[in-house]
Amino acid sequence: MPELIQSVRGMNDLLPPDSAKWGYVERRCRELFERHGYEEIRTPVLEHTPLFARGIGETTDIVEKEMYTFTDRDESSLTLRPEGTASVIRAYIEHSLAHREPVSKLFYIGPMFRRERPQKGRYRQFHQIGAEILGRDDPLIDAELLLMLHDFFTALRLEVTIDVNSLGDAVCRPAYRESLRVFGESRLAQLCENCHARLHRNPLRLLDCKEPGCRQVTADAPVFADFLCAPCRDHFARVQDYLRRENVPFALNPRLVRGLDYYCRTSFEVIAQGLGSQNAVCGGGRYDGLVEQLGGPAVPGIGFAIGVERLVMLLQAQAPPRSSPPDLFIAPLGEAAEGRAFSVAHRLRLGGYRIELESGSRGLKAQMRRADKLGARYVLILGENELAAGKGTVRDMQAKSDRPAAIDLALPARAMIEAIYNPSSQPSALSPQPEGAEQDSPGKV
Ligand code: ATP
Ligand code: MG
Repeated sequence: MPELIQSVRGMNDLLPPDSAKWGYVERRCRELFERHGYEEIRTPVLEHTPLFARGIGETTDIVEKEMYTFTDRDESSLTLRPEGTASVIRAYIEHSLAHREPVSKLFYIGPMFRRERPQKGRYRQFHQIGAEILGRDDPLIDAELLLMLHDFFTALRLEVTIDVNSLGDAVCRPAYRESLRVFGESRLAQLCENCHARLHRNPLRLLDCKEPGCRQVTADAPVFADFLCAPCRDHFARVQDYLRRENVPFALNPRLVRGLDYYCRTSFEVIAQGLGSQNAVCGGGRYDGLVEQLGGPAVPGIGFAIGVERLVMLLQAQAPPRSSPPDLFIAPLGEAAEGRAFSVAHRLRLGGYRIELESGSRGLKAQMRRADKLGARYVLILGENELAAGKGTVRDMQAKSDRPAAIDLALPARAMIEAIYNPSSQPSALSPQPEGAEQDSPGKV
C-alpha cells in the first residue's frame, strides 16, 4: 500500500455541504458591498517579504512569528500573504489607482496564511472577506463602513457586537504611548515575558495581551480617550453620532488596540458569542499614512477583514444545512432513452431548471431510491417503448401517482416543464422559478 498523503496541518479542505454556506456568505457579501459601490480586487497570494514587514509592522505577532516566508530559486524572499490590506495597497500604488479615481472602494475574498497553533477557529490557511476605502478621511466614511459591516451580519441573521475605539493620530499617540510605558514599567513584575518586550517595542500592545494576569494588571491602565487631541476627539464623536443615528449597536472598548501597527483613529472589532476564545470575527480600522509608508501618495484609508471560517461557524450554529431538491429527476430506462433524456436535461438546464439525470443502465427501482434520497418531487421516467410516441411518464413522488406527459424538445424549457408538471397543460402553481428567482438561504445547496 502506498503511504497516505494528507493535507498540511492547519489547512483544511472545504467540502459539501459546508461549501454551500461559503457560497451563500460570498453571494450576500457581493450583493451588499456592490450596492455600496465597492468593486472586487484580486491580488496574488505571494508577495515580496518586505511588503509585509513594512506594511504590517515589524513588531506585530504576524511579522515576528506567523509568516510563511521562503527563499525563491532566484534568492528573493517571498511570503504567503498573512492578510489582505498590504497587498491591496501595493496594487493600488503599482497601478496608480489614485490617479484614476479620487476614492477607491475595493473588496476581496481569499485565503490568507499564518503559521499559528491550529485550534478551533484558528487555522494556518484561512479566508478573509475584506473591504478597503482609499481616499476619504471624514467620519462619515468610517460610519458608512461600520454600518455596512453591521448590515452584513444582520443580513446573515447573526447577532454580534461591534467594539470601537480611537487610536488617535501622530499628534496624540506619542503621549498616550508614553503614559502606557510608564504604567507598564511600574507593574513590570506582574506582566508576562511577552509584555516586557512589548513595553519597549510597542507599549500599546500591552492592552492586546491575552494572558489573564496581564489583563487584570492593565484593567486600570490609562485610556486613549483621555489623550485624544481635539481633531481626533471630534472625529470619533462624529462617527459615534452617525452610528447612533442608524441604531447600530456598538460598545466603546478602550482596550482595543489591534495587532497591526498602522492603525489610527477609528479602530474596531466584531465580537460574536459561541466561538470560544477565538471570538473576533472581524477586525479593522483607519490607516492613514500606510499608503505613504509603502511608497505611494498621501492617501488616507480605512478597512476591515472578516474571518470566513469563524463566520461560517456562527452560521452552523444557526441552521442545519439542507440541500434543495432538483426541479426534476430524469430516469431513463435503456440506452436509447438515455440519449433522449440527455437532450431533455440539457434543454431544461439551459432554461434555468435544476435537473438530475441518472444512467439508463440502472434499474427503475434503484433510480427511484436515488430520486427519493435527493428529495425530488417529480420524476420523469423515459422508457424505450414511449420514446417513439414522444412521451414519458411523470411520477409525482408526493402523491405517489403516475401519469403520461408529452415531451416536445421543440418547446421552450418553461413550456416543457409545465407539460411535465401538469399534463393538462395549464401553467400550474407548482412550477418552480428558475435559479436566481428563488429566495436564497444558507441551507440552499
Ligand atoms: P486574533 O486575535 O484572533 O488572532 P487577529 O487580530 O490576528 O485575530 P486580524 O489580523 O484582525 O486578526 O484578522 C481579521 C479576522 O481574521 C479575525 O477577526 C479573525 O476572524 C480572522 N482570523 C485571523 N487569524 C485567523 C486564523 N489563524 N484562523 C482563522 N481566522 C483568523
Ligand atoms: Mg492573530
